Amino acid sequence: MQFDAQWLLLALAPVFLACIGWEAWHLARTRPDTALYSWPDTLCNAALALMHQGADKLAWLVAIPVYAWVWRHGRLTDWQPGWRAWLVLFVAQDLLYYVFHRASHRVRWLWAAHVVHHSSGRLNLSTAFRQSLMYPVAGMWLFWIPLAVIGFTPMQIVGIVLVNLAFQFFVHTQAIRKLGWLEYVFNTPSMHRVHHARNERYIDRNYAGVLAIWDRLFGSYVEEDALEPPVYGIVKPLDTYNPLKASFHEWIAMARDCARMPDWRTRLAALFAPPDWCARHDLALAPQASQAAVTENNTRGECGSREP
Ligand SMILES: [Zn+2]
Ligand SMILES: [Zn+2]
Repeated sequence: MQFDAQWLLLALAPVFLACIGWEAWHLARTRPDTALYSWPDTLCNAALALMHQGADKLAWLVAIPVYAWVWRHGRLTDWQPGWRAWLVLFVAQDLLYYVFHRASHRVRWLWAAHVVHHSSGRLNLSTAFRQSLMYPVAGMWLFWIPLAVIGFTPMQIVGIVLVNLAFQFFVHTQAIRKLGWLEYVFNTPSMHRVHHARNERYIDRNYAGVLAIWDRLFGSYVEEDALEPPVYGIVKPLDTYNPLKASFHEWIAMARDCARMPDWRTRLAALFAPPDWCARHDLALAPQASQAAVTENNTRGECGSREP
């Protein structure tokens, strides 16, 4: 019987749960003064994980035939089975993940889904479970189509996407400090703590999936500074453990902003410009007297922005 790659994350669930149990126990012993876990937060993360898994299964029903069609009619080459093909697939998908992740922070349509992952004020292994059921609607699966173009089959694509996500589970922890030379090659807990921080110098940095090289190559790398501990979450805290509110709050805010825009150019910008576009737009239109008030709103992340 062949293992279906679609079930990889569910098959690894016992490993993930054991690691969460160990981390919660370890942190309670070594850092009892810090409540890095809380039941409402962890249960919300678990609910979001289940909703995301359900949506993902449905999404593959659409995405896999699309990958198959592109592979059949548009592939540029064929790969002999072996380590060389897997290496190319792994590096290519990791680069595409970097592009997807960076776009998810700079295009509001994608941010509306991705914000779910960032909206907890805590960071622990269970935060990795915190995913959006709206990723298929946002179009995450479209980013992997180039893999079919360069000759990889749908099952290879699904498999490598899930291997990448499975790896990323392990970087959501405060129990591991820095990892020496590995920091230059791989996404590490230290590197990813920076990604989840809302400190001004850490925001929108370190987009890596597995390999750290893309952030260093494309100028988005920032090292965790021991003198500036990360403060986790989004600029405007979500203040709810309701998984439905966490999943849809930014879609609703985006729809409202789109509806109040006066023409098609600004409506499209409300959907596809960076998440802070609306705040900057309002600031530009605001009469001088009320600019101070708008600026204060912006710093609290109105318009769904993570920008300070
Ligand atoms: Zn992110
Ligand atoms: Zn993360």
